[in-house]
Amino acid sequence: MQIVILGGGFGGLNTALWLGEKLQDSNHEVILVADKPSFLFRPSLIWVPFGQRKIDDISIPLSPALQKAGVQFIKNNVTQILPKENKVAFQDQTTLNYDFLVIATGGFPYYEKIEGLKGNTLSIYDTEGALKTKKRVEYLKSGDPVVIGVAQGNPSPGMSYEFLFELDAYLKQKKIQSSITYFTYEQELFDHTGKKVAKLLKKHMQEKQIPHYCNVSLEKVDATQVYLSNGISVPYSFSLILPPYKGADYIFASKNLDHKNGLIPVNSYLQSIQWENIYAVGDTNIILDMPIIKNGRAAELQGQVAAENIYFQIQGKTQQKEYQNSLLGLMELGTDGGMFMIKYPTSKLSSSFIEWASDGAIPHLLKIAFEKYYLWKLS
Ligand SMILES: Cc1cc2nc3c(=O)[nH]c(=O)nc-3n(C[C@H](O)[C@H](O)[C@H](O)COP(=O)(O)OP(=O)(O)OC[C@H]3O[C@@H](n4cnc5c(N)ncnc54)[C@H](O)[C@@H]3O)c2cc1C
Repeated sequence: MQIVILGGGFGGLNTALWLGEKLQDSNHEVILVADKPSFLFRPSLIWVPFGQRKIDDISIPLSPALQKAGVQFIKNNVTQILPKENKVAFQDQTTLNYDFLVIATGGFPYYEKIEGLKGNTLSIYDTEGALKTKKRVEYLKSGDPVVIGVAQGNPSPGMSYEFLFELDAYLKQKKIQSSITYFTYEQELFDHTGKKVAKLLKKHMQEKQIPHYCNVSLEKVDATQVYLSNGISVPYSFSLILPPYKGADYIFASKNLDHKNGLIPVNSYLQSIQWENIYAVGDTNIILDMPIIKNGRAAELQGQVAAENIYFQIQGKTQQKEYQNSLLGLMELGTDGGMFMIKYPTSKLSSSFIEWASDGAIPHLLKIAFEKYYLWKLS
């Protein structure tokens, strides 16, 4: 059988490595396709605008790790999935057949959803955005009003807090006096991670004198102001607002593949609800009856769940592994180190959680150690 995995991020790579190792001595073939030759450790993009990381420091070629696991790597740009024919089509007009397909091509900014957002906000979503933001950060001067925020429909608010605190630390270090305003659509600061996290974030915002608005949506942006649903408009000369998001363009172009804004609906086995030989993991899926919260750890765990279920199916068994939401995260807090967050369901069927959070120097050091370990593991 031929198992094709689209995407070489946390989700796709983990699916491929797991399946590659399991199927190494079999006659099944595992192929990973990505449009870029390297894995990018995206959580560390947060440091690029402040000159603390170069893109090369946080990228590693995909081929060596894949080769070791017996996975074939194809660098190509997917332009369409043809589920009726079990085929993937590429930009260079070639196609690839699959018996099982795993879609792991991530999420993309959907600026067009909010009037004026495109072109009026910076980004740290990808290498291009982070490098552009770096250039703009270097031009910041005292008196420049700054707005950082997260718009409704964005499933990864964490990076906006990290950018906010890193920027605050940078401005202090450079002795630039600017006012920063923060806003979020969340009811409380980063509330899906738990009450303790919200409380700690509030404390840090107050100590740093950062005014913030929760539970507001972004109505529109123009060249000088950000307009919020609470009637307040905030002037800016530097803005970084996380936009709503969508799936890859090729998913919109794939006629027989159901999707919502380019995201693939899957069940708790991460199997497409439409095609039983298609799975979707990470930022690119919508899991039925689960909140849409996206992060690298979830993508990685989901990669393993999908891989195990495909392995069961190859052996003629039914899938047995279900994905369950949980949180184990590290967040940068600028001058105050970092924060460690845990949120686990107390049992499989329960809706109550065990929550814990702690801030200080150690979480910051752990975040650096994790980055180094992850990249070393793939080298
Ligand atoms: C600044 C920042 C900070 C973050 N911080 C954290 C954090 O602290 N902790 C955490 O857990 N998560 C964090 N995240 C989120 C995390 O990085 C994402 O959730 C994660 O990368 C999603 O993994 P993925 O595999 O689903 O998609 P991606 O990592 O986006 O990978 C998608 C892959 O698909 C490929 N691809 C896309 N389109 C095509 C195409 N048409 N053809 C072929 N290949 C294609 C891409 O090249 C890439 O290889 C952060 C993200 C950012 C941007």
